[in-house]
Amino acid sequence: MSETLRVDFYRHGLGPGDAAQIAEVLATPMLTSGAVGAAVEAQLCDYFSAPHALLTNSWTNGALAILLALGVGPGDEVIVPAMTFIATANVVELLGATTVLVDIDPETLLLTPEIAAAAVTPRTKAVQPVHLYGQMVDIAALRRALDAAAPGRSIAIIEDCAHCFEGTLHGKRPGVHSDAAIFSFYATKNVTCGEGGAIIFTNTALYTATTETRLHGMSAMAKDRFVAGQYRQWDMPRLGVKANLPDLLAALLPVQIRGIDEKLEVRENLAARYDAAFDGLPFKRPAPVASCRNAWHLYALGVPGGLRDAAIAALNAEGVSVTVNFRALPRLSYYAGQYPAALAQCPAAVAWGDQTLSLPFFPGMTAAEQDRVIAVVKDHVVPLVEGR
Ligand SMILES: *Cc1c(COP(=O)(O)O)cnc(C)c1O
Repeated sequence: MSETLRVDFYRHGLGPGDAAQIAEVLATPMLTSGAVGAAVEAQLCDYFSAPHALLTNSWTNGALAILLALGVGPGDEVIVPAMTFIATANVVELLGATTVLVDIDPETLLLTPEIAAAAVTPRTKAVQPVHLYGQMVDIAALRRALDAAAPGRSIAIIEDCAHCFEGTLHGKRPGVHSDAAIFSFYATKNVTCGEGGAIIFTNTALYTATTETRLHGMSAMAKDRFVAGQYRQWDMPRLGVKANLPDLLAALLPVQIRGIDEKLEVRENLAARYDAAFDGLPFKRPAPVASCRNAWHLYALGVPGGLRDAAIAALNAEGVSVTVNFRALPRLSYYAGQYPAALAQCPAAVAWGDQTLSLPFFPGMTAAEQDRVIAVVKDHVVPLVEGR
């Protein structure tokens, strides 16, 4: 029986209680951004001890809104680690700015303050560190390194928190030391509403500008244009994107945010079980970052010897679903064409992207499912790597 158990890569944990939250919104006149989203924004400010929060309809559109608010455009450079999802760099490219692809630490697989500082030029407008898999880049140290590399200029730090909602570094959550931190509520992320995202800000001027760039550049949202039956005129002081999250989706978030720290303990237990099973096996794993509580978005393994794709085929043949998060950006045709030097300049990112795969990993995973994944890795992937 357990020999034929198929294991999904991911299953969401939403159910009838969540459907009831959506039904409540359907019973109101406001389906788009209104009171429900505003309450979630207040909940995010509370959870992150942040002065400002804005919900968005994706990480990607939130990042575009922020970069527009910062005035990033042609001639500007934005530093991005080469080991990330394409969206982190695509937003820079879409605005006609230059993506400066940089390498990662070969052990933690994260951008380091030293690597970022070494890439600073007079054109650097922002840095987008990525908390890959849930472990955090040291943003306070990054700030110090950028200030030393470019004294008197304030290079913006925009944290890519798509993998790290509930993680901490030195006991501090994301968003404390940066100008803004962006989250994703995409279908497989730790907090999800199918598609969505959020931004938290310490920089009040950036927050104020982003309230406009999040909505076409308009000076008032729909809920602020019709107050007590009165229509209020609005202006378009700047250019923006359409990035606001409808209340229909925001309604799925409050319960998940309240339960996220409890879910993290489940993720930690699953990760510890995988760790114990894989100790001593010939796979590389991300090195733990000191003083970091990992948000454990993904569980990644490195398969040595150029055998990653063969390992994926072996796992799939046994009914275990896996993904690759991620091939390094210089490996993708668009970025290879745009920045041909990046392949040689980012050896650690390229090497990890060539060997990594992500195993099934989600709070609703059963012990039987996890045991099956472990058995398939031991019986079908280890022999491949050891040439047996
Ligand atoms: C998922 C993801 C994004 C994009 O999130 P969307 O909400 O789908 O736009 C950005 N960065 C990283 C690292 C991601 O994993």
